[in-house]
Amino acid sequence: MNHPRSLREIVENGLCVGCGLCQSIAGGDRVEMTMVDPPGRLRPRIKTPLDDQTEQAILAGCPGALIDEPVVPGRHGADVKVDASFGPWHRVWKGHASDPEIHHMASSGGALTALGIFLLETNKVDFVLHVAASKEKPMRTERHLSFDRAQVLEGAGSRYGPSSPLIDFTEQLDKGKPFAVIGKPCDISGVHNMRKVDPRVDELVKYTMAFSCGTFADLQCSRWMLDRQGVPGGEDNLSLFRYRGYGCPGPTRAVTKDGQVFDEPYLEFWYGPHGWTHQFRCKICPDPTGEMTDISISDAWPGGGPTEEEWGGSCLFISRTLKGDALMQEAIDADVVTVDETDIAALHECQPHQAVKKDGMNARLQAIADEGGIGPVFRNVRLDEAAAQRDTEFHEQNRAGTRERIRKGVNRESLP
Ligand SMILES: Cc1cc2nc3c(=O)[nH]c(=O)nc-3n(C[C@H](O)[C@H](O)[C@H](O)COP(=O)(O)OP(=O)(O)OC[C@H]3O[C@@H](n4cnc5c(N)ncnc54)[C@H](O)[C@@H]3O)c2cc1C
Ligand code: SF4
Ligand code: SF4
Repeated sequence: MNHPRSLREIVENGLCVGCGLCQSIAGGDRVEMTMVDPPGRLRPRIKTPLDDQTEQAILAGCPGALIDEPVVPGRHGADVKVDASFGPWHRVWKGHASDPEIHHMASSGGALTALGIFLLETNKVDFVLHVAASKEKPMRTERHLSFDRAQVLEGAGSRYGPSSPLIDFTEQLDKGKPFAVIGKPCDISGVHNMRKVDPRVDELVKYTMAFSCGTFADLQCSRWMLDRQGVPGGEDNLSLFRYRGYGCPGPTRAVTKDGQVFDEPYLEFWYGPHGWTHQFRCKICPDPTGEMTDISISDAWPGGGPTEEEWGGSCLFISRTLKGDALMQEAIDADVVTVDETDIAALHECQPHQAVKKDGMNARLQAIADEGGIGPVFRNVRLDEAAAQRDTEFHEQNRAGTRERIRKGVNRESLP
């Protein structure tokens, strides 16, 4: 398979996830994240031609183009277990934040919010880099820095639209302060790619955490929700837009500037009359469950989805590194989280769609090669082991499905 040789080729071949890291690497005067709307995706705009050194630095950091997640004894420990579909793990728990306010406001169990606050309140980090709703345009999602509990809580909940949490990642390193990063698995892969490029990442990024991620919706899907619910004045008239939280999974909620509230049930947002659209790169995501993090979190819905609104509010916690396992133990001892230990079978029960994706990845990548396309570099993500769990028919279906998508051109994008 051919691989991208420039930022332009990353975007044009549908490999960009919109993380924003290329803007941080090149500088905002040369690359600027821009909303391409419709469909509503954040993509880099090249403002001035890039020199070869910058192109190479972007190719080395970009998680759309490169994923490399080796299991390293020093980081993971000699006794780490490795599941073919879900990656390295020490222990798995089911539970939630002990604090009822966090539990209620958060996406599912409040695991990420509770652990983020715990890191700050025990002085393990000075700040947490994650995302939150824009205050000016609440349907948009922005990079968010949290230095205290209230700020971490502002970011609680799933943001199912586009976001660029790494837009100023190297500027955060320039501060010389220890911090944690919470994001999608691909955001965290960008952080990990940077470890090889910038030694300050090892020194300053103390913890990484991600949630299990099945893709996010283009911004137009949020606009369709406003249309379906008859929200007057559209996006410009919003004082709040929340996708999830305030009771698991909680409705998608739009509140107008004069206080009118419009709710749409979780399942209707995803599977309602308009359906939803998303980027091609998520179809070839080799790590939907955050395998390279210290701790990753997923919903604990048997079968992979909620069966009714207001369903529970539990997470699965997976400690993946020695550091992540120690942090979990500390959080349990401090009663920050209320959990019961289970094991990796719970991931297979609650995230079957992610196993399907991972196990079919080799076949999907093969389809890109079949079509003479340009695809990503995926190293050390255990794709052969994952594929070996499925039969020939499964792989043929994955290969044919991806070929079909490519022939329809869903992987073709233009630079803004
Ligand atoms: C795009 C997306 C896809 C998802 N897909 C799945 C899935 O396939 N399977 C599944 O089990 N669960 C999925 N989830 C839900 C996710 O698993 C839950 O958020 C998770 O259970 C964590 O719950 P929590 O209560 O600990 O999170 P919270 O305590 O509410 O914390 C959520 C944290 O994630 C950060 N965050 C939210 N949205 C984004 C974003 N778009 N980009 C970067 N950071 C963000 C917030 O800043 C916050 O720090 C998805 C969530 C999102 C945002
Ligand atoms: S994935 Fe991130 S680093 Fe790569 S091109 Fe897109 S925004 Fe830039
Ligand atoms: S599915 Fe994978 S590539 Fe897509 S947003 Fe989620 S982590 Fe990123």
